[in-house]
Amino acid sequence: MGICKNKVSQYIPTGTMEWREIELPCGSTGKDDERLMCDECTKQAKAMYPQGWRNTPGDTCKHGTYVGDAYGPDYICGHCEDAY
Ligand SMILES: [Zn+2]
Ligand SMILES: [Zn+2]
Repeated sequence: MGICKNKVSQYIPTGTMEWREIELPCGSTGKDDERLMCDECTKQAKAMYPQGWRNTPGDTCKHGTYVGDAYGPDYICGHCEDAY
């Protein structure tokens, strides 16, 4: 990732019941600390990580346990541990 030039729409609250649409580059960080991804990148990431993710593709292991990413928490999944 990183070479995608697509934009992702984000809706940010500007007041009570008021939202503003902003466009951020694909791969940047959204308002909830999640990785923003365009449809194409989401499709690719879903193929690579069928277990899904919370914020960033790859931050949940194949058991669906949140283990963080290179920049976030580094939790260890018990099931993954048992495999060694
Ligand atoms: Zn993209
Ligand atoms: Zn696991």
